Amino acid sequence: MERPFTFWRVLPLVGEPAHSYFSRLVLDECWHSPRQYAKDIGIAADAFSPRELLDRILRLPISDGDKARLHLWTPLDTGGGVVLAGQNLSDRHFRWSRRLHCPQCRNAVPYHRVWWHLECFRNCPIHGHPLIPVQQTYVSGRWWPKFEKTTRERAPEVCVDGDTDVIESFVIRCLLEPGTLPYDRYLADFIDCSEFLGRLLNNPRQHSVPPFSAMDLQTGYAALKDGCKSVAGHVSSWLDANPVFPTALTVRQLLGWAADYLVSDDEGLDTILDDPSNPLLVAVSEMIRAECGRILRR
Ligand SMILES: [Zn+2]
Repeated sequence: MERPFTFWRVLPLVGEPAHSYFSRLVLDECWHSPRQYAKDIGIAADAFSPRELLDRILRLPISDGDKARLHLWTPLDTGGGVVLAGQNLSDRHFRWSRRLHCPQCRNAVPYHRVWWHLECFRNCPIHGHPLIPVQQTYVSGRWWPKFEKTTRERAPEVCVDGDTDVIESFVIRCLLEPGTLPYDRYLADFIDCSEFLGRLLNNPRQHSVPPFSAMDLQTGYAALKDGCKSVAGHVSSWLDANPVFPTALTVRQLLGWAADYLVSDDEGLDTILDDPSNPLLVAVSEMIRAECGRILRR
């Protein structure tokens, strides 16, 4: 089929990926299953390629601005992750099969926000509630969001400047201002660093890695959001709260598990997975080592 849709009265919205826009186009054609519609026009419905969806949709005579918006907010597979709004995210950060959403966002303007696929995204920073599971009857990896009504809204503002500054609002702000981040892995590096630092600060010293807690990300974000300058103070307080015998000789004795996760410039973040070096984690590691050094020299 040269051009799949008869109408293009709905337009791509801020934060809306191609699979959501496709679903809304299908609904506007009065069809109810985007999955079946995709099948009917020859798209692999359960393992759709976002690039293929884009190729189909961009044939519609919508404006260049609307096309650019759709392109920006559609995660494109890179093999091992996606590129979204110019940021590279790994499968650890972005999960296609993640089925969570904020019903209040959907009620306000019915479309699917791409940031709901991010693993670090647990609460809606606009409404202040946890994301909840999407009710779907079938199970598959990639899935099609479904809506009850179409919206003819053009491009609603997404405003995250609420009373609470949490990592979710930071993520949206980063994605809304593509090109302002220092490099193309910055968001992923920031999330990883927040999680590491938060996990250190939120737990007493222990030998092995503590279990995951959603609060780790928020604690790490609060310590890192104004740059690294407050990290030394936070680590110093943690060291005071977790005293060691005066005979302690190593960073491992001071930090426990976290010592194994410190990196340095030449070492890289994770040689096993061949991840590139995380400059933020390198800087934070240096500060943590410096704070440990103060105690070890006493
Ligand atoms: Zn919401």
